Amino acid sequence: MTEVIHCIGCGAEIQTQAPGELGYTPNGALEKGLATGEVYCQRCFRLRHYNDIQDVHLTDDDFLRLLNTLGQEDALIVNVVDIFDFNGSLIPGLHRFVGDNPVLLVGNKVDILPKSLKKSKMKQWMVERAHEVGLRPIDVLLTSAKKPNEMEELLATIEKYREGRNVYVVGVTNVGKSTLINQIIKQTAGIQDLITTSQFPGTTLDKIEIPLDDGHFLIDTPGIIHRHQMAHYLGKKDLRIIAPTKEIKPKIYQLNAGQTLFLGGLARFDFIQGERSSFIAYVSNDIEPHRTKLENADAFYEKHVGGLIQPPRVDEVKDFPELIRFEFSVKEKTDIVFAGLGWITVTSPGVVAGWAPKGVDVIKRKALI
Ligand code: GDP
Repeated sequence: MTEVIHCIGCGAEIQTQAPGELGYTPNGALEKGLATGEVYCQRCFRLRHYNDIQDVHLTDDDFLRLLNTLGQEDALIVNVVDIFDFNGSLIPGLHRFVGDNPVLLVGNKVDILPKSLKKSKMKQWMVERAHEVGLRPIDVLLTSAKKPNEMEELLATIEKYREGRNVYVVGVTNVGKSTLINQIIKQTAGIQDLITTSQFPGTTLDKIEIPLDDGHFLIDTPGIIHRHQMAHYLGKKDLRIIAPTKEIKPKIYQLNAGQTLFLGGLARFDFIQGERSSFIAYVSNDIEPHRTKLENADAFYEKHVGGLIQPPRVDEVKDFPELIRFEFSVKEKTDIVFAGLGWITVTSPGVVAGWAPKGVDVIKRKALI
């Protein structure tokens, strides 16, 4: 191999010689990857398609060393998360790895939130969730990596907090970190060719350094795969369906107790007990919720998943994890959040259940809207 190729999952340098080592991919897979423009190392490929090497990224020595380097240097850490999949975006133990370094929490993909959602509420929610996992961000910012005009505020905020230090950008895959880094490179015009890659000390993981104007760098770290993301259970076509690209249009349903809503075949919502009331689905405009009777819902799913209710598509059904049920008692206006997919707002008290593929979180939060 003459040209250096990187895994688009973890950023490792692709190699075809040493199975089991970082960046390994079989020759055949490499050729296919090159043809489609998407080269994954075997590890990321298997995780993405078969979900079979659970946790390895989080215990992998290289990633731990990478995270450790973050605490050894006096730096600003920018943690990019996907506000649509907050729990799926968290890096377990990040607060321990960063040491005393300040963390700026950046919630990406704000463009898909309905305009009716107040940004201040979303930020407050992010701060509370961060505190729950021990992370105490110095500030929280919402942005959209897809919108060039949003970068000004981000760059100004980074400048405000970095106080002459290096900046490390960290995030799990799919949060939009690459899109963000590319946008930053474009904005800080003229430096495109100054980007260098070198390795994190003691690891074989590459970093990308974008020079800042005082001799310091903004450093992109490899994305860490988080296996609880819905994204890892789906093929590319489905991802396009579930990942909203435009502002979400809420869909309102009047439900009686004993009714169920399917969100494609990916998730299920049961209204178990309570007065007839409104339920509002905030999911990609391309997902059509399907209403049915709770008592028939199991049989309905068996019969129609991959057909009437999609994704997953028919050929993906056999590898698709079973749906796991989480029951919630609701007292006030509440969102039932399906990580990476969206949420359903429950407007009056009752008992409900949310179902998601095994490994994907369903949580309850005070309604954002
Ligand atoms: P990475 O794995 O964190 O580097 O993520 P990517 O940059 O590859 O982005 C993952 C997906 O999110 C892609 O489909 C992007 O198009 C999409 N994405 C990234 N940023 C945004 C954003 O600000 N808004 C929306 N709607 N989608 C985004």
